[in-house]
Amino acid sequence: MKKMMMKWSLALMLVLAVAALAWASGGESVANPSPDQVIEMLSQGNARFVAGQATGSHRDAARLRQAAAENQGDHAYATVITCSDSRVPVEILFDVGVMDIFVIRVAGNVVQTDEAGSIEYGLAHVKTPLLVVLGHTQCGAVMAVANQLQGHGHALERNIPPLVAPIVPAVQRAMSAHPDQKGLAVLPAAIEENVWQGIHDLFMRSPASRDLVHGGKVKVVGAIYDVGSGEVHWLPQAKVAEILAQVERDPGRAMEAMAQ
Ligand SMILES: [Zn+2]
Repeated sequence: MKKMMMKWSLALMLVLAVAALAWASGGESVANPSPDQVIEMLSQGNARFVAGQATGSHRDAARLRQAAAENQGDHAYATVITCSDSRVPVEILFDVGVMDIFVIRVAGNVVQTDEAGSIEYGLAHVKTPLLVVLGHTQCGAVMAVANQLQGHGHALERNIPPLVAPIVPAVQRAMSAHPDQKGLAVLPAAIEENVWQGIHDLFMRSPASRDLVHGGKVKVVGAIYDVGSGEVHWLPQAKVAEILAQVERDPGRAMEAMAQ
């Protein structure tokens, strides 16, 4: 019995050593991952969440002590903008914890001045190498715009129309690309278009973000979270380069990176 236990603990030690080696050989240190390494870390965290195997790490008293004593810029590795929807709990769905991700939440994950400023802070000051614009299935903000544009709208509280105004072009593109999809059938296409719209609006407003992407310091990616399955679906990265090139040709883009 004792012998068998020794055998097992030896095997366990071997597995741990191999895992540590695999991690170390990943290139840069854990504190300074590349954009692609961050996508991999978030993908793995989401897979653990979906499988019911979340570790819930970085949520203990030791992490809080660290958070109070250290610079978040040395730890947080992703900036995420997503919807305020209660079905999209960002840290939970990526299985991350305190001081791991810099999060902006706003209905419809729109990017206007406040959101662009928060993103600039996450990229330039917290120095996260990745920005995720995360839309989600069944988004009520996109749904409200789709209803309005198809003549099924109703009165909205005074601050909601200006909030969701940036979603209008996204829904219009989805409707013209899918004229066969009537009513809310257009919603999945509109939700994806709204992710691209957020990235477009960020690049239009933020020369600093464009420069960080051009310089290879930051990668911007789009993704859709499925509120029913818990899965994050990453959208094609090539589209982001297309949007950036389009914005660079647009004379209406903001040019001065720094506030005066
Ligand atoms: Zn939403």
